[in-house]
Amino acid sequence: MPNFFALIPAAGSGSRMGDELPKQYLSLAGKPMIYHALRILCSSSRITCVFVVLAPGDEEWLRHDWSDFSGKLEVLECGGATRAESVLNGLKAARGVSSIGDDDWVLVHDAARPCLAEMQLDKLLDELADDKVGGLLAVPVADTLKRGDASRRVEHTESRESLWQAQTPQMFRYQLLVEALSMMGGVTMTDDAGAIEALGLHPKLVLSDARNLKVTYPQDLALAELILRNP
Ligand code: C5P
Repeated sequence: MPNFFALIPAAGSGSRMGDELPKQYLSLAGKPMIYHALRILCSSSRITCVFVVLAPGDEEWLRHDWSDFSGKLEVLECGGATRAESVLNGLKAARGVSSIGDDDWVLVHDAARPCLAEMQLDKLLDELADDKVGGLLAVPVADTLKRGDASRRVEHTESRESLWQAQTPQMFRYQLLVEALSMMGGVTMTDDAGAIEALGLHPKLVLSDARNLKVTYPQDLALAELILRNP
């Protein structure tokens, strides 16, 4: 039976937050933001090991206490210039510090999604455990979508039919994900599923909900805190 591993790329600078501190370390409900994603992944008995990928020389990590996760957490200081590069570097480094095999599952989860619920995580594992390709948590687009022009005028309305917002975790077999990300070259992909799609494969969309939000702008922090305090 394949095992489940998790990997959190946390080597980004989070410039859209307008803060000096990389966003994974911003304070959220009394902890650095990444703590919440680590808590949910490390506390799942179904996940063997959680890798966190930091930027080389990240000094902020050492300023916090991660002892709650000892025994389950592996820190890899090999982040790259892009998210995809950080994930690929992390996957390769994971081989050196764990027994991860080609067919094991890897759940890649953004440090900036602190509100992932245990129920959503279990649903992802249950729905994909026997899948050939793998997949991701996602929500159908609810808002009407407008295409804007350079002067911020509506060019036209896009159909939202069949459109989904991709979330994380995104779950793929180790070897398939390494191959997919290695083949991307310089092409920018903002998620892992995109690299799998580029191989001609079709990841499965597992229905999630809006609580698993991504903290991108300063106002998202207050909303995330509200969700964490009222699970
Ligand atoms: O910037 P964005 O919100 O898209 O980042 C998504 C995730 O990817 C974050 O957890 C961030 O730390 C990570 N990342 C990374 N290496 C980069 C850029 C982003 O690990 N070079």
